[in-house]
Amino acid sequence: MTTIHNLGFPRIGAKRELKFALESYWKGESSREDLQALGAQLRQRHWENQAGLDLVPVGDFSFYDQVLDTSFLLGNLPERVQGFQGDELDNYFRVARGRSAQGAEEHSACCGGVAAGEMTKWFDTNYHYIVPEFKADTQFTLHASRLLEQLAQAQEQGVHAKPVIIGPLTYLALGKAKDESNKLALLDRLLPVYVQLLEALAEAGADWVQIDEPILVTELDDEWQQAFKKAYEQFKPVGVKLLVATYFGQLLENTALAAGLPVAGLHVDAINDRDGVDALLTLLAKDKVLSLGVINGRNIWKTDLTATLDWVEPIARQRGDRVWLAPSCSLLHVPVDLESEQNLDADVKSWLAFALQKLDELRILGQALAHGREAVKAELAENLAALTARRQSPRVHNPAVKAAVAGLSAEQGKRKSEYAQRAVKQAQFLNLPAFPTTTIGSFPQTTDIRRARSEFKTGRLDENSYQAAMRAEIERSVREQEKLGLDVLVHGEAERNDMVEYFGEQLEGYAFSQFGWVQSYGSRCVKPPILFGDISRPHAMTVEWITYAQSLTQKPMKGMLTGPVTILNWSFVRDDQPRAESCRQLALAIREEVLDLEKAGVRVIQIDEAALREGLPLRQSQWQRYLDWAVECFRIAANGVSDATQIHTHMCYSEFNDIISSIAHMDADVITIETSRSDMELLDAFEHFQYPNQIGPGVYDIHSPNIPSEQHIVNLMKKAAERVPADRLWVNPDCGLKTRQWAEVIPALSNMVAAAKTLRASV
Ligand code: ZN
Repeated sequence: MTTIHNLGFPRIGAKRELKFALESYWKGESSREDLQALGAQLRQRHWENQAGLDLVPVGDFSFYDQVLDTSFLLGNLPERVQGFQGDELDNYFRVARGRSAQGAEEHSACCGGVAAGEMTKWFDTNYHYIVPEFKADTQFTLHASRLLEQLAQAQEQGVHAKPVIIGPLTYLALGKAKDESNKLALLDRLLPVYVQLLEALAEAGADWVQIDEPILVTELDDEWQQAFKKAYEQFKPVGVKLLVATYFGQLLENTALAAGLPVAGLHVDAINDRDGVDALLTLLAKDKVLSLGVINGRNIWKTDLTATLDWVEPIARQRGDRVWLAPSCSLLHVPVDLESEQNLDADVKSWLAFALQKLDELRILGQALAHGREAVKAELAENLAALTARRQSPRVHNPAVKAAVAGLSAEQGKRKSEYAQRAVKQAQFLNLPAFPTTTIGSFPQTTDIRRARSEFKTGRLDENSYQAAMRAEIERSVREQEKLGLDVLVHGEAERNDMVEYFGEQLEGYAFSQFGWVQSYGSRCVKPPILFGDISRPHAMTVEWITYAQSLTQKPMKGMLTGPVTILNWSFVRDDQPRAESCRQLALAIREEVLDLEKAGVRVIQIDEAALREGLPLRQSQWQRYLDWAVECFRIAANGVSDATQIHTHMCYSEFNDIISSIAHMDADVITIETSRSDMELLDAFEHFQYPNQIGPGVYDIHSPNIPSEQHIVNLMKKAAERVPADRLWVNPDCGLKTRQWAEVIPALSNMVAAAKTLRASV
């Protein structure tokens, strides 16, 4: 019999119950008991949802984040919250949310820069964890009550529970040494606590423990490799069987290390590392469990069950009941239930599987292996029919788009002249002062805007009234910008719900779910659009809004677009073609929009690539291949314009050192970046590289309600001018202003414009 099991279940709830319960508790509108009860209820429901699996995860539920849970489990709390006398859950939330500013909570569209330095992306997912903090003298002590309680709850429910914990090496690797000490030196102190934990779980009746070590799919130097061996050697005597779980990537050079760990089983991501499984079949001792992650836990497509069986059956014959089946990773990264979707296009819906449907697929595979394919003949036939329909659907395949992408040449990604020549023409045309001022695109999304949009969506507001309301907002932001004296204006993005969704909704090949929420961090969720087919642009998407805005002013109006790489990286993408191919299709669509804007007289066009860095592969050795196609896609989107048209791009993160040559190769005339919190130090990368084009280093931290003073901005810009020639500097905020209030934005921008004037006077 093949064991089927799950690595983790989405905790937020099919209707985002956990989100609403958390937010109500934080506002003081409900009690701690209410929240605890809701947690217990969700766990119970989710275990019921996983009925029929042989092993069900416990400990995957969290009130905020599983990494933060691990820090509490190991007694590793930052000093600033130690000694807190109140309730443990409240202390937990203090660590989770303590330092994040009000506005930061709102800014989920922005690549994880949400709570400065404390939260970061979980591997290459869009889930953000709270970074563990270490110091040379960090001590660990076991606090297992939360996990043991959940285990008891599961056992009471009659569930065959498999506690899930983060392994010691991954825990250390994900944390940050606050005093620059060597994190690995803490291992000796950490391991005894893990041993205690494993013993406690054994005593509580667990037979298997899943111990997640996804850093095994990243590059590990010798010191870390040795640490792995040492750690797992110490776990040998514990009274539970350990399943070391890896996911999200390929084991490659770590294959022998993973296979050689003295544990009872190894889980691998057979979606991302199918080839690696071959190597494991010879390397992994025959008495060890090999758990194959055959259902994609990162995507929303139906699994090809027949093809999976074709692949798995011979392995199962060879290794017998030592082969287990599971999703590739925790289902945390997919929405809960496809059945809730009422408005999804029927074709598209028939091709999809969310968490519950993925578990159904797992059960079907388990049945087929246990009793033969005959036992699930109808299910397999249904699955095959859906997959065949998808493969052949004209909704998915558009020969004209495929031909256009095939016909792309590198020429199309090249501007007509070099930057220096373009800059002269643009300067003549735009006639801007030194230190020109601009903003990144959005102005406050007021309650009025949100209300109008939701009334429009529900049909209470007709199209004309909605358009009129948005035009009024655009006019308001243009007037404010003129009053402020900004040099290059924006229309303010009032009409956009989200910088990706807005474009996805207008492109062919995209679908939108109603309830397809995925946890991003804490109570925050995102609903990634579903890119299902060849991408085309049936009509212009932004031209009317931008030309309307331009008609209101003599100042240059900056057209505002989201770039192809960002649209791709914030979507659920196709699994039937490479990401690069989908990205090229998006690039062509955005290119058409850019050219239409130019034709309509828009001479400054910004193409945001906020998520370009997010797409970097987990292994550095694979970065360049990604950067090559990603940058090529940006170039295709942007560089069809004439010399006099100025292309801007914007990126809201603060690490450029390792990707600066690719950033330069994008060849945008102007790049605006997030810098205010780094005190301009991140411009070092641009200075060392001798970045040739113009730069707008952010001088206003839009995550915070604080209003930067004129002097503060002048000082920052002076630091910038030490690194980049002053005649190539712009003055602008870090990012868009949609999460701020007008009452904050006006004084802040007013100080920014005053600072630019002071700077002009000083050169
Ligand atoms: Zn940004």
